[in-house]
Order: sequence, then structure tokens, then C-alpha cells
Amino acid sequence: MKLIRFGEHGAERPGLIDAAGGLRDLTDVVADHGGSSLHPDALAILAEVDVMALPKVPAGTRLGPPVSGIGKIVCIGLNYHDHAREVGKEAPAEPMLFLKATTSICGPFDGIEVAPDAAKLDWEVELGIIIGQRAKAIAEQEAPEHIAGFLTANDISERAWQGERAGQFTKGKSHDTFCPIGPWLVTPDEIADVMNLPLWAEVNGTTMQNGTTADMVFDVTTAVAYISEFMTLEPGDLILTGTPAGVGKGQTPGPVYLSAGDRLRCGVEGLGVQDHRMIARPT
Ligand code: ZN
Repeated sequence: MKLIRFGEHGAERPGLIDAAGGLRDLTDVVADHGGSSLHPDALAILAEVDVMALPKVPAGTRLGPPVSGIGKIVCIGLNYHDHAREVGKEAPAEPMLFLKATTSICGPFDGIEVAPDAAKLDWEVELGIIIGQRAKAIAEQEAPEHIAGFLTANDISERAWQGERAGQFTKGKSHDTFCPIGPWLVTPDEIADVMNLPLWAEVNGTTMQNGTTADMVFDVTTAVAYISEFMTLEPGDLILTGTPAGVGKGQTPGPVYLSAGDRLRCGVEGLGVQDHRMIARPT
């Protein structure tokens, strides 16, 4: 299944994509896509719904983040060999983790805010994992049953805040709109091999990132099991699995950063494409 949430910010309703690519309304079937509705058993029941009998979502309706109530965002840094090389670092010996504020989550076509002093605004297309059932100190082979699905994400980063303003990564990673997710939450049965998916990002029509999840240092199941040793993963939690080479900071000649008016598109094969405009932060 490809699950969506549609409607205005903060008032999104659940839906899904039908076999013909149309948007269908699940309001009368499930309360929302979040928490216990992401459990594998709940998703199995949802998969039995007669999709073509569901009401259609009106054309032009905004798509929001495809999951509600995300409790935490856990990110893995330097998790692609080619990205580690471009920033002049060794691939880490074990996963490097940081957290991103959940208030940074936005929809796949929303504007990305450029704060008045944001001078090094950068992109990071990433494969996102949504947790389906609680994972506490699980083994790697148990990880698949704890995953509800995958989505396209962009770990938007203000590099000056991230690296030049003291402290850890948190400041540079957490501004509103710095975590667009979607357009869809795609269940694992729809993906032949999650560790062999092309992913890319494009700025103003120029391809900047063009990688593959096959280049990850630590794979999806390793990441879920590893994180669950340090913190309990709850249904709806989001893991960002790192970005391939081609971020703005790594461009030659460069660096290249985003400013208001720029267009940023990104996608992971099979998980859908995001399309954003950079907008001056509303005051
Ligand atoms: Zn990242």
C-alpha cells in the first residue's frame, strides 16, 4: 500500500493511492495513519479494503506528511560511503546518531522556510523508516516485523547553525519545515529490495545527488536494531538513514546553498517525489 494524508496543515485525513494512481479517502475506515494503526496486523486489515469503492480525494488537495503523531526522529549521520568521502571523513565504525525536532516535519510539497540568518541551507535526500511496532533491544533479524514502511525524506540542514553555533547538530537540523516526508508511506511488501533503491535530489533543475541505498554503511535492519539498544522505538517513530554524496556543502565548485525562491525536488525510487520552494520565513 501507498498511504497518504491529505488536507490542510494540522487537519489532515488518512487516504491511500489506488491501483490507477488515484487518491482515495480512508476517513470512514481508519482514524489516521499513526500509532497503533501502523501495526502489521492493522495494516494487514487495511490491505483488505475495497479501494476502488472508497471516495476519491478532490483534485488539488494538499498532501501532508503521510504519518501522524511521530514521537521522535532519529537520524544516522555519515551513513553513505560516498557522502563520508565528500565531507572528508572516514565511514564511522558504528552508527552515529542524532535527533531532530518533530516540529520540523512538513508535507512533501510544502514551502521550506529560509530564516533571516540562514546562510548555509542544505539538502539531504534520505530513505525514511517508519516504525510499526515497539522495538526495544531487538535483534537484527527481528527488525523487519517492526517496520511499518518506508518514505522519501529530506533532512534539511542549516550548516552554519549545525557546525558554527556551538553544541551538537540539533540546532541546524530542527527548524520548522526541515523534515519534509512523503508523499507516501509505502509498505515493505511493495519494495523488492530496500537496500538497492536509487535516490536523488535536484536544485533548480540540476541534479545534485544521484545515489543508491546500496552504498549505505549500515543497512536498514542494522539501524533499527542498533537504535533499539539505546532507546525504545515506538510505532510512528521515524528513522532517517543518512544521505548520499552531492549535498550543497560537498559541491565542487562550491559550496552551493539554498535561498528563497529556489526549487528543491527529491525522490527515492518507488517512494515518490517531493517538490518544494524555498520561502522566506514568515514573521
Ligand atoms: Zn541526514
